[in-house]
Amino acid sequence: MTTDRAGNQWAWWGDPDSSGPGVVAGSHLDSVPDGGAFDGPLGVVSALLAVTALRDRGFRPARPIGVVNFGDEEGARFGVACAGSRLITGALAADRALGLRDGEGTALADALVQLGHSTDVGRDDETLHRIGTFIELHVEQGRSLVDLKRPIAVSDSIWPHGRWRLDLLGEANHAGTTPLADRRDPMLALATAITSARTEAEARACLATVGKVLVEPNGVNAIPSRVTGWLDARGPDEGGVLALVAAVAEAVGVEATNESFTSTTFFDRALVARLARCLDDAPLLSTGAGHDAGILAASGIPAAMLFVRNSTGISHSPAEHAETDDCLTGVDALVTVLENLSG
Ligand SMILES: [Zn+2]
Repeated sequence: MTTDRAGNQWAWWGDPDSSGPGVVAGSHLDSVPDGGAFDGPLGVVSALLAVTALRDRGFRPARPIGVVNFGDEEGARFGVACAGSRLITGALAADRALGLRDGEGTALADALVQLGHSTDVGRDDETLHRIGTFIELHVEQGRSLVDLKRPIAVSDSIWPHGRWRLDLLGEANHAGTTPLADRRDPMLALATAITSARTEAEARACLATVGKVLVEPNGVNAIPSRVTGWLDARGPDEGGVLALVAAVAEAVGVEATNESFTSTTFFDRALVARLARCLDDAPLLSTGAGHDAGILAASGIPAAMLFVRNSTGISHSPAEHAETDDCLTGVDALVTVLENLSG
């Protein structure tokens, strides 16, 4: 097992430096706060089981096979999703990463030192050169496979998605003595932003979410002086997503400050077709969620994803679930894919 400059963990069957680049499968082990058991770990565990199955049957790969556990995929602590893969591909600059702070004010640089990890993070060409192809198996984060009555899908693309901040200013005052007509209450603007996000998303077949809000001073009997709301917007096309955000910002009369944006990511077309073919014409799905596979694909590495049916259709919640039979079908699919790609 080795770790790269960002602390992502790699295990190799064969030597990727002398006989690579190799075929890599894996995902992440971290989760969102109060998340489920499958988002992330299913991909790492399935990759390890697939390699074990190949070894048990005496398969001799012509190319090395790797298993990876990417760090900090959800960005739950420092706010940047897919930080591990963004760092090694250079999509997240080292100085920006080291300055990120968690909710308690601890900088990522200090957290790395506390863990005994080097702060010499950044693009890692040595690691990137070892990856010929990357396959990320992941629990589906919706109900498409339940509806299709299929256990496995191949993902062909990731929707454009981003996060924007709305800074809504008002005037703090007493809830019991300030006449309604005299108030400058930014909570009303937040309400407008939330309902506008919903309406604009529906009109454009996009998704929009206000899931995080900061209120100052956050007192029951005080009109807020300031409300900060975060808008997460995604959709099948970039123009629709950007128009949605612009419409919400216009509805509340402020600029929406972009904190991150990822354009549509298309997984390698030939690879997607090859995977679907060797998995009994598995259906193709696009997804609105970002993944490490998308970060690698955007950096030019042939990558694709396999989705395993999620019986509840719920994700980022303890209700997230995949039946054992479907998980095992996922391992079999990964065995087939690794055999096909590394043979
Ligand atoms: Zn995930």
